[in-house]
Amino acid sequence: MEFINENYINSLLQSDELLNENYQRDIIAKGFDAKGLSLKESATLLNINSPEILDELFQTAKSVKEKIYGNRLVLFAPLYVTNLCVNNCLYCAFRKDNKELQRKTLTLDEIEEEARYLVLTGQKRILLVAGEHPKKSNVEFIGEAIDRIYSINFNGNNIRRLNVNTAPLSVEQFKELNSYGIGTYQCFQETYHYNTYEQMHSDGPKKNYSWRLYAMDRALQAGIDDVGIGALFGLTDYKFETLALLMHAFDLDHKYGIGPHTISIPRLEPALNAPVALNPPHVVDDLSFKKLIAVIRLAVPYTGIILSTRERAELRRELFEAGVSQISAGSRTSPGAYKESQQSLDEHALEQFQLGDHRSLDEVVKDITSLGYMPSFCTACYRSKRTGDRFMELAKSGKIGKICVPNAIATFEEYLNDFASDGTKEIGKKFLFDELDKINGVTKKKTTEMIERVDKGERDIYL
Ligand code: SAM
Ligand code: SF4
Repeated sequence: MEFINENYINSLLQSDELLNENYQRDIIAKGFDAKGLSLKESATLLNINSPEILDELFQTAKSVKEKIYGNRLVLFAPLYVTNLCVNNCLYCAFRKDNKELQRKTLTLDEIEEEARYLVLTGQKRILLVAGEHPKKSNVEFIGEAIDRIYSINFNGNNIRRLNVNTAPLSVEQFKELNSYGIGTYQCFQETYHYNTYEQMHSDGPKKNYSWRLYAMDRALQAGIDDVGIGALFGLTDYKFETLALLMHAFDLDHKYGIGPHTISIPRLEPALNAPVALNPPHVVDDLSFKKLIAVIRLAVPYTGIILSTRERAELRRELFEAGVSQISAGSRTSPGAYKESQQSLDEHALEQFQLGDHRSLDEVVKDITSLGYMPSFCTACYRSKRTGDRFMELAKSGKIGKICVPNAIATFEEYLNDFASDGTKEIGKKFLFDELDKINGVTKKKTTEMIERVDKGERDIYL
């Protein structure tokens, strides 16, 4: 744990120097260049209290996000394959002492059914999620599930990037997982605060703080290029957590030349028989949440920030403005829930936590398009081997936009032609027409050709 220096974080948070408003404004101005911030600078921004300066922070985070990712919002949905778990995390409904939860591990056929449902609503990216269980959710099982999901194809519509959020593995196991062609490997430290971590995880393999903390090192050593870190906000002070999360990001960048591909920022939601989730020790209010997202955006500008459907729709709209670049939509958080949602069975008896945004993918697409964001179903980078440092290099040089804009437009056109409701289609087509108008030269020519090919029925076209 040597790179999580609690004393240093606490000393920064207690420093009066960082309360100086002129200094805070200087750091915001520095952040505008999208070159990243140090830990001390990030701590300074977390200490902002003045509403005017906060507003400047949000505006800057928005423009940095736009500089790098344009107006695109990448969409995905989780797929839970098992809620069996040998751990006892006090905030999670899947914990082993929760005797009221109906336990379920999907068969490969059921996994295929869930994935098929997602493909047929227009999703192209899945995040596969599992409780930790040495027999039920081992690498072999996860690997077979991945193969099954990738094998589904309906007239060119398929899952094109499969990210995985499972318990940490050894280097050998990560190598095996990587051989199935995963996108990002995600694992959240939950809390970087050692004592809090111990209190929350009294049982099972997750008890081991360091094993979890070094999961990304092992994943990278095993050849997984894209890793996603995160913290579960609400367990300890949010300023501490944000700085520790950034320390983790800086450490990976320093050691491997690749920062985290994504950072997730789940906030504690109520969950069945999960005492800490029902009564969070350090509730993060909405404004502080928005602030920490903006700080992360300025501190690590090239990292994708993921916001899930844990948050309610109105707040999600506001948080997109603070630097979020990836969102889940149309999600369910229990094994088999997509099928059950169609049959109106009681999916809540199996779910991990309660969702704040229950809208369908189509509703979310319509909503974000109306707000001026381009829904992106693009998965090109990973399939063109633009991962790890190659992705970071492209993002830093600003060249990524020339590739991403055409790809996002082509995949959105696919979505509109194949899955959108009439209302979404109408708004979406107009939106794409305006987007095309914003680009010119070779990029415009290429994009127009891609749209024409999609309209003629070709699928999965990308640069
Ligand atoms: N079991 C694996 C693990 O713990 O890493 C992977 C999947 S776990 C189901 C995914 C994530 O859900 C956890 O890492 C945690 O951050 C989040 N989570 C658990 N309980 C939650 C709650 N009550 N509210 C919001 N997120 C929660
Ligand atoms: Fe199990 Fe993960 Fe839930 Fe903890 S957070 S109880 S490890 S599923």
